[in-house]
Amino acid sequence: MTDAVDGICIERAAKSRRPSPAQLAEAPFSTIYSDHMLTAEYRDGAWSSADLRPYGALMLAPSVAALNYGNSVFEGLKAHRTERGDVAIFRPRDNARRLNRSATRLAMPAVPEALFVKSLRALVGIDREWVPPAGKGALYIRPVLFAIDESVRVKPAEHFLFVVFTFPFGFGSYYAEPVDLLVTEKYVRAFPGGTGNVKPAGNYAPAMLAEQEARASGFHSVLWLDGTERRYVEECGVMNPFFVIDDEVITPSLEGTILPGITRDSIIRIVRDMPFKVTERRLAIDELLSAHRRGALRECFGTGTAAIVTHIRRIRYRDDDIVLPPINETSIGVRARNRLLSITAGREPDPYDWLELV
Ligand SMILES: *Cc1c(COP(=O)(O)O)cnc(C)c1O
Repeated sequence: MTDAVDGICIERAAKSRRPSPAQLAEAPFSTIYSDHMLTAEYRDGAWSSADLRPYGALMLAPSVAALNYGNSVFEGLKAHRTERGDVAIFRPRDNARRLNRSATRLAMPAVPEALFVKSLRALVGIDREWVPPAGKGALYIRPVLFAIDESVRVKPAEHFLFVVFTFPFGFGSYYAEPVDLLVTEKYVRAFPGGTGNVKPAGNYAPAMLAEQEARASGFHSVLWLDGTERRYVEECGVMNPFFVIDDEVITPSLEGTILPGITRDSIIRIVRDMPFKVTERRLAIDELLSAHRRGALRECFGTGTAAIVTHIRRIRYRDDDIVLPPINETSIGVRARNRLLSITAGREPDPYDWLELV
């Protein structure tokens, strides 16, 4: 059946593949995909209307620019079910703006914020039964924008595809336990003037060897230092790190090499309202070591959309091991995560206006 809503053409999946709500709440991250996806094309300087259609393979020529040169940027955000049964997308306008900063940096066109939000609302709306039960999981939303010019001439592209797909995942399945991090000095994730502060696909592949080597040495992930001096802490894996030293919560300031995480921003606001002092500044690895030696380093965690807050148990830097005290219900990261989960599950009011009801 084909129809159109709000200018979006819809071709419905003949039969839903949706598992039971209990299975949605247990789904491992990125394993089963919801029934529909959305596509829109940019050609001759303008966006086509968007289409909703069954999730499935795309046909692409081997010469498309994104495959050869990496002109591809993406986003990640979630839709939640509230305890009243509503479905809400978390801060979609912030992701729209960030996608467009990424696109601009890679000489790609912006996706108008209205098209982005309308697309996500339509896609989450048609697959709303895929959103796991309140508090048990979420629907992950993955928008991708990439160049589809059939040309390997090296130049900014002219034709683009905007694709959005979603998948359910259970909160239990993603990093419940605190993780061990290896500080790498061999590799860098970002450098001044590079693309560390935006979200191109190409930021990820170059980090994977470092992750692989850290895992081979018994760690879960990497703690990245700055690319100039290899001294300042920047990110952990693909999360923004936070450190509690005495009574101060510190997170690296956004100076051009750090991805401005929307979870980072949300956690800063929640922790400030607890209230604790949150400082955004440069933090040297030796400062972290000396804080640990005098017993002042109380807690470390990373923030990102998928896991929200992941605590850090151990950080290895050269011959030093920083071992953090065990977390409990009073840990700042645990309290901040619980508060964010309560807001997204609709158990507490949303004073920040973060939820966009679908
Ligand atoms: C996406 C991303 C994050 C987390 O951003 P959120 O908006 O909180 O999901 C952190 N670091 C890197 C490098 C990222 O790509």
